[in-house]
Amino acid sequence: MTTITPTSPWCRAMERAIRENVKPTKRTDGSFRVRSVSRPGVAHIVSVDESGHITECSDCQGWAHGGRQRPCKHAASVALAILSLMGANIATTEPAPAPSPSCSRGQIFRVAR
Ligand SMILES: [Zn+2]
Repeated sequence: MTTITPTSPWCRAMERAIRENVKPTKRTDGSFRVRSVSRPGVAHIVSVDESGHITECSDCQGWAHGGRQRPCKHAASVALAILSLMGANIATTEPAPAPSPSCSRGQIFRVAR
């Protein structure tokens, strides 16, 4: 069985997705639809290329700012779904050193008001 060790920004985004119960819905074209938590009625479309890499989260400030380096929870929830479909183990231990103080969560994720 494959074991995937996500980078620490992905780990944190995945933990956030689990905590906030963000669940993607697979669409017929292979992309995923994820409901926005902060904006009711809004859905983000997460696109995945043929090798299973997430390429975009539509209409999403988190993705626009962080992209693949610092993914949003929508992308992370889709990554979790893809990994579980693959039957992969996810290593949730944090191998990376603590993030620098200049890179706090508040700067990564913008809270919509
Ligand atoms: Zn997003």
